[in-house]
Amino acid sequence: MKCRTCGAKAAVNMRHHRLSLCSEHFLRWLPNYVQRTIEKYNMFTFEDRLLIAVSGGKDSLSLWDILHLLGYQTEGVYIDLGIDENFLYSQKSFKAAVSFAEARGLNLTVYDVKEMQGEIIAETAVRTRRGRNKPCSVCGLVKRHAMNTSALKGKFDVLVTAHNLDDEAAILLSNVLDWSLDFLSRGYPVHPAGPGFSKKAKPLCRTYERETAAYAVLSKIDYMQEECPFSTDSKQIYYKQFLNQWEDRMPGTKLRFYNNYLKALYNGAFPVGQDNKDVLSQNLCPNCGQPTQTGGLCAFCSLYIHE
Ligand code: SF4
Ligand code: ZN
Ligand code: ZN
Repeated sequence: MKCRTCGAKAAVNMRHHRLSLCSEHFLRWLPNYVQRTIEKYNMFTFEDRLLIAVSGGKDSLSLWDILHLLGYQTEGVYIDLGIDENFLYSQKSFKAAVSFAEARGLNLTVYDVKEMQGEIIAETAVRTRRGRNKPCSVCGLVKRHAMNTSALKGKFDVLVTAHNLDDEAAILLSNVLDWSLDFLSRGYPVHPAGPGFSKKAKPLCRTYERETAAYAVLSKIDYMQEECPFSTDSKQIYYKQFLNQWEDRMPGTKLRFYNNYLKALYNGAFPVGQDNKDVLSQNLCPNCGQPTQTGGLCAFCSLYIHE
């Protein structure tokens, strides 16, 4: 397999794009592709201050590297969840995020969940009767809240997350299987700011996970390779395995599935649903000021405060 641009030995073969590239040309191609996605969905401009949510993994570090190289004004936020009991996963991912930022002279702030809330995710999961080994719902709530709080506090124009195409296609498959019209009506990769929440964008939404992995390896980014110890039995992993099988047989399946959904969404296929009522009715949590459906405490504050 040869590089389409220079004819040298290809390092990456992207069957879904019918494109093979050598290392040098792949490392030029991917940032251009991400830039086209940013422009296509009007995600942000070079005047905006971007806050990148960084986990220390290949997706978030590749994204930060790409946005920095493209010339965007970026800072990172690392959310220290204290995932496992020995903190090994959190320690390793934190180290990867810090080394990356230091090597490039970029600013990284840390949101320490234990410091802010007085307990780690696993402890909250136990106290709220979800179980020590099932922290994902608590973790999702805390991460969303921490990212939003950090973006608002730092007065950033856009909160940027590194969800890739594999993540988005798996979420879409899950929402289609459940016919969750509320979620399907708001699956756009960019969301405007509103009362209590910052603008959000996902510039890797059309980038395959194996492309961000190839980018991280070829550009020698020292990323956290282990997955979260709780990720193994998540529903999303199961959907990703299905999608990978379809992709193997029919290259481009994930991209078509996601692109055509966005077209349908843009053309009004999914009306704004009930689940958007927290945003639309502008009920704000009396404790943190972020949107809530009830008018009382938001789901995050309810984890820690009893009314
Ligand atoms: Fe949090 Fe994801 Fe780990 Fe679950 S799998 S605990 S959501 S990081
Ligand atoms: Zn080449
Ligand atoms: Zn709240």
